[in-house]
Amino acid sequence: MSDAAADDGDSSQRESSVEQRFSRYERQWRYAPIGLAGQQRLRQSRVLLIGCGALGSVAAELLVRAGVGSLRIVDRDFLEWNNLQRQSLYTEEDVRRGWPKAVTAAERLAAINHEVSIEPIVADATWERIGPWFESVDVVIDGTDNFETRFLINDASCQTGIPWVFAGCLGAEGQSMTIVPGVTPCLRCLMPDGPPAAGESPTCDSAGILGTIIHVMASIQVTEALKWIVGDRDAIQPRLSVIDLWTSGLRSLDLGKLPREACPTCAGGERLWLSGERASQSVVLCGRNSVQVSLPTAPDLDTLPSRIASARVLVSNAFLVRLRVEDHELTVFRDGRVIVSGETDPAAARSLVARHLGM
Ligand SMILES: [Zn+2]
Repeated sequence: MSDAAADDGDSSQRESSVEQRFSRYERQWRYAPIGLAGQQRLRQSRVLLIGCGALGSVAAELLVRAGVGSLRIVDRDFLEWNNLQRQSLYTEEDVRRGWPKAVTAAERLAAINHEVSIEPIVADATWERIGPWFESVDVVIDGTDNFETRFLINDASCQTGIPWVFAGCLGAEGQSMTIVPGVTPCLRCLMPDGPPAAGESPTCDSAGILGTIIHVMASIQVTEALKWIVGDRDAIQPRLSVIDLWTSGLRSLDLGKLPREACPTCAGGERLWLSGERASQSVVLCGRNSVQVSLPTAPDLDTLPSRIASARVLVSNAFLVRLRVEDHELTVFRDGRVIVSGETDPAAARSLVARHLGM
């Protein structure tokens, strides 16, 4: 046998062992733009997902089934009954158990694909914390529900050069764009003045939201991430996709003509959100009739219930304590955040927390 024939034999043997190793992903790598080489890249990839509610939980499941190497999931919230209509990773039992979404998602995802390393982080995405989450990841998926956090992600992306995939949904409509710093327009290119002021734009509280558009937009986000990870950079276009499932409307706006050199963020190097200049201390949570308040120091969750005589303890576990006080529910997390349910006025929420928890 000639050397060349031996080499051929070796390489076909290698290929068949790779095929075997990736057999569970066969239908995916048979798709030519992915291929076996792309599947191997996926196995080595690391994805950061910020927000594991509607978009995030759907995206997480798709990423894990596709065989990414690792997935870091950041979420600040716990599950509620009205999440189940669209957040298809979760069950009724998860709502009853009262664990944070990030931990619940990690448990479910590990059962779907044990090969993926999952890192749940129960925390708010703030300018103080976001830096280390971007370390050694290939791409970031936006699973948030607010523009403040998206502008923070956009700053961190422009700072690190790591691309991110934006999506937002309201009613039956969804929007999506992929930001590759230095290559495609960033979020600030599109919205030079930053996020709309609170109360200025409709929210899913007022306008409602369909589970179907969530799945469409999360699918687009994950496909964009797959393109990036397997290295098909030409397939990523500078476009804003706008889809309305109810009117069957489909638009794709070419953003390639935006004057990127005028953008203070991606061209000018300004980092208003990452520097903390545009940070807020209390946040009205979209779709939740709730306000989040941050305590100055992290509380001791073990002793907390006994220290508040006026409170009834509804849930107490390793991650959070939920108390009923003055017709409100306060959910206190280990990292010092308190979600005040049944309140939309930040000042009233802060004073309630100060009265009962001290701050
Ligand atoms: Zn820009």
